[in-house]
This record gives sequence, C-alpha cells and structure tokens, in this order.
Amino acid sequence: MRRSALFILPIYLLFCTGCAADDTAMQTRTEALMGTYVTVTLSPASTDPQAALDAAFARAQELEQIFSPTIADSELNHVNASAFSQDTAVSEDFAHLLSESLYYMEISDGAFNCTIGKLIDLWGIGTEDAHVPTKAEITSLLPETNSVSLSYDGIVPLVRFSDETVQLHFGAVAKGYIADEMEKVLSEHGIEDAIISLGGNVLTMGQHPEKQAAWTIGITDPHSPSDIIGTVQVSGMSVVTSGNYERYFEENGVRFHHILDPSTGYPANAGLSGTTIIAASSLDCDALSTAVYVLGAEEGLALIEFLPDTEAILIMSNGKVRCSSGIENFTFRQVME
Ligand code: AMP
Ligand code: MG
Repeated sequence: MRRSALFILPIYLLFCTGCAADDTAMQTRTEALMGTYVTVTLSPASTDPQAALDAAFARAQELEQIFSPTIADSELNHVNASAFSQDTAVSEDFAHLLSESLYYMEISDGAFNCTIGKLIDLWGIGTEDAHVPTKAEITSLLPETNSVSLSYDGIVPLVRFSDETVQLHFGAVAKGYIADEMEKVLSEHGIEDAIISLGGNVLTMGQHPEKQAAWTIGITDPHSPSDIIGTVQVSGMSVVTSGNYERYFEENGVRFHHILDPSTGYPANAGLSGTTIIAASSLDCDALSTAVYVLGAEEGLALIEFLPDTEAILIMSNGKVRCSSGIENFTFRQVME
C-alpha cells in the first residue's frame, strides 16, 4: 500500500495562515513555485499593492530558475553537471545560498547537508519513482565531508566538487531564501505589513493590519496534519516547519519520509515528527528546521539554545511537545485536546 502526501501541506497552510486569509479585504496572490504554493497577503492600505506583488513574485521566479531541481536548465542543474573537479562560475544568489548552506552543514555536524542530491534522487520521495533503494545503493552515495568548495577569482564566485557523488540540492533551504528575498522586495515597495507562505515556511512582516497585533501562526500537528497543535504570535519573524507528513510514501505499513539522515542515508529517525523554528531570517529557520529534525530533541535543542534569537517547538514521535527556553516570547499556546 503506497500513499503520497505531496499535496497535503500547501493546501493546509493556506488554511493555516487563515488568520490572514479570513480577511476578504486583504490583498492576496497565490502562485505555484518550487513545487509548492506561494501565497502573499498584504494590507489593502498599501500603496500600489499590485506592483509590490508583481515585483515580489518576479523575484521568486528568478530564484526558482536558479535553485529548482526540476527545471532542466536551472542554474542548479547546470552546476551539478559541470562542477566535478572543475571550477564553475555561479551567480551571487547561488554563492550566497551555498555559503549559508555550508555554514549550516558545519554547525549541525552534517545533519543538514546540501550535497546529498543523488541520495534524494535515489529515494525519489515525492515523485512517481519513490521506492526503497538497496543498502548498497545507499551506501555508495553517503556524503563525504568537505567535498564542495566555494571560492572567488576576484570576478565571479566559483564552485567545485571534489567527489563525483556530489550533487547540490537546496530543497531544505531555497524556500526560506526565497521568502527572505520576497520580503526585501516588498519592503522596497513600501510594504510594512504582510505575510508570505511557501509550503511549511511562513514569513511575517509588521503586524496584522486590521487587528493591529502580531500575526497568529498555526503549527501543523504532524500526527493529524489537517489540525494544528498550537499557535504562536509573531511580528517580523519567520516560522518554518519540517515534518514527516509533508512528503512520504508507505510500503508494508512503514512510512518513508523526505528528510534524510546523511549519516545513514535513510529517512531520519531521531524521535521527532515535526520541528518548527522561529527566527528573523526564513533561510536560517529553514536550514535549522531540517537540521534539528535529523539531530533529534537533545542535540537539536542544544543547537537552538546556542544560537541567539532562535526558538524551536519540537513534536516528538510520542506526541509530546518540547520547546526551547525562549518560546514564551512568542506566546506559544498549545491546543488542548
Ligand atoms: P525541509 O522540508 O525544509 O525540511 O526540507 C526537506 C527537503 O530537503 C527534502 O525534501 C529534500 O529535498 C532535502 N533534504 C532531505 N534531507 C536533507 C538533509 N538532511 N539536509 C539537507 N537537505 C535535505
Ligand atoms: Mg528546511
């Protein structure tokens, strides 16, 4: 029995950010990008909201053309085809996301790893080809450390792979970066109050314009993804969730989900079902939501406590909820059963 949950999350999140969507007076636009739905909701009082939305979505499309693994001529696919043992020139956006990803690889001790594109393709989770690979296939693709270098020749950034098995994949961070970049464009257009939602990523700007209060964001219950497990109140912060319910297939009653543990090559199994991170940058949240999922509660919370102005809500496989020490700054309220 196989079941794909690929489309559950985007539909749910439109509802999840319903605090904004309820308000018919708000300006909302949704487009399909990066394999999910991207929704931006603005105050109707904004000056020329259509121009702001046009520009923000144009920037998102530009970034999709760079980072998409499914667009054949994306920059990502070009780099993956040419960077083994030769310097390959990349765009500033590519260099920036790679450099941030290498940082998160380092501080998560490889739990977040942007070099496992071949392993991700091998499993094919979220595609028609999803299947359990053989142990030998998995072992042959386990990542080496320090296999990607990023340098500058004074003119352009250069990327080089020292291992033939390396394929970059930004599935765990690109949406966060896109949200941050859309926010920049909206700000440049004078937008102060807005909410951007891409799959499990939500970025808030300012306040809910009609309530004149922080935005209320629902956190999906990974054990019942059409429900929320709780809410947080945020203003000018991102809230990003990773979970085992987003993309998966089931075989003989076992769920194989899309967050892989790079140390084993199998779906991460560290006792968590969902991780939500709150921080100013959506990119930071996105990298950390994936890293903490792989690390598990103890190591994951230790990492979050080490980072300034970053909080986490972890939903354990047994349904218990664990939070980082500063979570009350965001008025986390758990829904009581
Ligand atoms: P997220 O939903 O942000 O946790 O990202 C999960 C996506 O990132 C997966 O669908 C894969 O494309 C990719 N991915 C899976 N495992 C990892 C990992 N350990 N490190 C980095 N990217 C990963
Ligand atoms: Mg992520």
